Amino acid sequence: MSDRLHRARAALKSVFGYDDFRPGQAEIIAAVLAGEDVLAVMPTGSGKSMCYQLPALIDETLTVVVSPLIALMRDQVRQMTAFGVPAATLNSMATEEEALEAWRLLRSGDLRLLFVSPERLMTDGLTARLRELGARRLAIDEAHCVSQWGHDFRPEYREIARVRAALGDVQTLALTATADAATRADVIERLFPKPPRVFLHSFDRPNISLRFAAKDQPKRQLSNFLAGYKDESGIVYCSSRKRTETLAAYFKEHGFRALPYHAGLDQRLRTRHQDVFLQEDGVVMVATVAFGMGINKPDVRFVCHADMPANVEGYYQEIGRAGRDGLPADTLTLYGLDDMALRRRQIAEKDISDERRRIEQKKLDAMIGLCEAPSCRRQALLAYFGEASGPCGHCDVCAGKVATYDATVDAQKALSAIARTGQRFGAGYIADVLGGRETDAIRRNGHHIIKTFGVGRDRSQRVWRSLIRQLFAAGAIEETGGEYPGLRLTGKGEAILFGRETVALRPETDRRPREKRPEPAAGAFGDLDARGQELFHHLRALRGAIARDEGVAAYMIFPDRTLIEMASLRPVDLAALRLIHGVGERKLKGYGALFVKAIGEFLGGAG
Ligand code: ADP
Ligand code: ZN
Repeated sequence: MSDRLHRARAALKSVFGYDDFRPGQAEIIAAVLAGEDVLAVMPTGSGKSMCYQLPALIDETLTVVVSPLIALMRDQVRQMTAFGVPAATLNSMATEEEALEAWRLLRSGDLRLLFVSPERLMTDGLTARLRELGARRLAIDEAHCVSQWGHDFRPEYREIARVRAALGDVQTLALTATADAATRADVIERLFPKPPRVFLHSFDRPNISLRFAAKDQPKRQLSNFLAGYKDESGIVYCSSRKRTETLAAYFKEHGFRALPYHAGLDQRLRTRHQDVFLQEDGVVMVATVAFGMGINKPDVRFVCHADMPANVEGYYQEIGRAGRDGLPADTLTLYGLDDMALRRRQIAEKDISDERRRIEQKKLDAMIGLCEAPSCRRQALLAYFGEASGPCGHCDVCAGKVATYDATVDAQKALSAIARTGQRFGAGYIADVLGGRETDAIRRNGHHIIKTFGVGRDRSQRVWRSLIRQLFAAGAIEETGGEYPGLRLTGKGEAILFGRETVALRPETDRRPREKRPEPAAGAFGDLDARGQELFHHLRALRGAIARDEGVAAYMIFPDRTLIEMASLRPVDLAALRLIHGVGERKLKGYGALFVKAIGEFLGGAG
């Protein structure tokens, strides 16, 4: 290990209180300290930011951090300040005071991290000033935003190469949690004059468990899930603004602390909801995807999708907001035929090039495939990112809930019903025809006398709907256009109907899955004994009180993992406390005495 890497590791402990590098960090930090340009592709929560934070501290120079997340820069600055790292932000939402403070720090030469939005960086000669003031390194967060192939293209990012040149071709470090091969190549080409060192870290997040379920009674399904995580923080993603509000209201009625969040909410209310979620424990944020990119809260214990995500990158990034602290985290994704059709329509209606449309279409197909995956979810997810792996053993499919059967005959019944009714009706109508239900509409259309009417009487509506959804996912049927879109056969559907192809699907049982009472979740602190858990809750309350006093997020005082270690090891003096995960010098000085005292009293109180 080089001398400087040794110093980085010492600072990791003394400043941040962490004992060791996480996988991948040491190599990247060594390369950064050696002056190399770097592209680091690592999953959310793997500690990418540390790869520019530590070098800035060791070199005692200024790093300019470009990020699209203006709303969260203040949060990042606070977080760094809590660790005693001089940081500031310049962006359009910063207050005058914040800007003055940033300039004061910049001029003093003490500043280590300056968080800037790309548009701000381009304005009124800022780069020239930063160059004079000694900016030595450029760190580009969410670097996939530079690429059209990514799922989150930001045109402003295209200007960053110019900024780099204007800063005097400074060393550049690009970071992202999502980049398939095409996006990666594009990022390299657009941000670096010559190829950087590329570090590709496994996308696996083994502490996050993966679960999917077909939408049945979504509100019930979700509140049953939430009931297993009382007092924990989590996010429920929805596909529309309205739905965030109705769901949040429903959860509230059912005794959860739920808050809506979407881009249409009044700015002040939105910020307040975000602050409550960040600062307090046990809040469920019911949000559109507008919420979360760059949310640093490490103790999010679950992420649900009330509606099917638009693509696998988005899904991965959203569930990735759970369990950044490495402790167990849970996910549940609901999906339905409506979601699939809606997403297809959205893509069809977008004002984009045909090439782009094809890309989005393929991304959507991959997402649908993941929902209907007949084998290990994690394997499918990692394969999407080009990573080979074995079955994980603990996703819902591995856990043995899902098998497949040769569904060719059933599929032919459904496809035939679609064909014989003229390829223009929706899933509900087709299921009625199969089930032999003489509705008004069916009689009016004379469909009660066609050959397929009632051939599926032996199965419930629910089974047929599932089968139709799976056929849709398998690309055997598609939606017609028009105001009242129905279903029609694709080439593949015809091949199945005429016996040229077979199809394996997942059986859907006739009975509704019995509403199981959710097992109480073990939570992240499940390994503690009863007394340890009591102490943990006690320390969490203390942390909450300090956080409210100081107006900062609870996790910025200490993360859960630190409290869990305290509750387990029960340090009663500062020397012992210093050895705990997450206790650096600054925090030891700031909060050490309070926590040691609380632990002492707790132990004493027990007699
Ligand atoms: P990313 O940017 O990759 O999503 P972050 O940089 O936000 O992840 O890191 C996630 C959390 O992990 C942060 O709270 C950070 O302080 C913490 N962390 C980073 N490096 C380490 C480490 N070596 N040991 C323990 N925790 C770490
Ligand atoms: Zn699995």
